[in-house]
Amino acid sequence: METACLSPDQQGFARAAAILRSGGLVAFPTETVYGLGADARQDHAVARIFEAKERPRFNPLIVHVDSIETAKAYVEWDAEADALAGAFWPGPLTLVLPLKPGTGLSPLVTADLATLAVRMPDHPVAQGLLAAFGGPVAAPSANPSGRISPTEAGHVLAGLSGRIEAVLDGGACPVGVESTILGLAGAPTLLRPGGLPVEAIEAALGQPLRLYGAGDPVSAPGQMQSHYAPGGLVRLNATERREGEVLLGFGAVEADLNLSVSGDLTEAAANLFHHLHALDAQGARVIAVTPIPDRGLGRAINDRLRRAAAPRE
Ligand code: AMP
Ligand code: MG
Repeated sequence: METACLSPDQQGFARAAAILRSGGLVAFPTETVYGLGADARQDHAVARIFEAKERPRFNPLIVHVDSIETAKAYVEWDAEADALAGAFWPGPLTLVLPLKPGTGLSPLVTADLATLAVRMPDHPVAQGLLAAFGGPVAAPSANPSGRISPTEAGHVLAGLSGRIEAVLDGGACPVGVESTILGLAGAPTLLRPGGLPVEAIEAALGQPLRLYGAGDPVSAPGQMQSHYAPGGLVRLNATERREGEVLLGFGAVEADLNLSVSGDLTEAAANLFHHLHALDAQGARVIAVTPIPDRGLGRAINDRLRRAAAPRE
């Protein structure tokens, strides 16, 4: 695939929006860093973000929206969210709030958590793209996993050229560090320091922030081994269905549900949470999973399944 470099004008926004609609990936500038965007409602498109970045796990992504009104369609809004978004949106502040049911967002976006991270970016190119697209854009930083976040289109191309459909070139990002992430599902908690100073948030709230720390029950997700567990137990690397089990397959195997009959890891990632929920809903006591190759997206899938299989706390 050849990665197109799009100009930051109406024509470029229209091209980029069409790519997002068709399930493709577009990197775009925000005031913080360049994001790697996908339609947050399309499972396969979101799976491709993890594939392009070679992320070894499904950590949740920030959904970028065009307005406070749009954010309210996805999360349970409250007075603190109102005060903070009123003061700092658009801007480098991400709010983590309870996810509303039935939003149509892919469960890969939230890593199947009950909360969603949302932000309205303060950059004319990001806003131009969101307006042309007219939907929610899931976007982590547009760099390969483990590398430095990109603040110029050239950085994006150096890391992801050939792996994504396009980059909108909007020059250098003015802030240059990631957004500040604030958890508002409980007491206001700083989940990640970033472009908006903590002092500004504390002044707007009129109270000090909790800092995420050891002993906190749920953190930046992924830290607690069994955090993502479904109701039933999960048994990995199953070669047969034992008494009382349901079988989740991968590749050409007989199974109750199959992540990808053709052995396509991107398709498997897109189906993962949906299939786990479906099998869970059948009341399965044990979900046995046939082997999944530990390469590419298979690493993230296996990481997620290992967490589900870990002993409960
Ligand atoms: P990045 O992917 O580089 O944009 O970083 C996104 C950050 O947002 C990660 O540190 C995530 O852990 C954090 N995040 C996203 N969604 C949530 C959520 N629902 N709860 C807590 N942290 C979140
Ligand atoms: Mg990042």
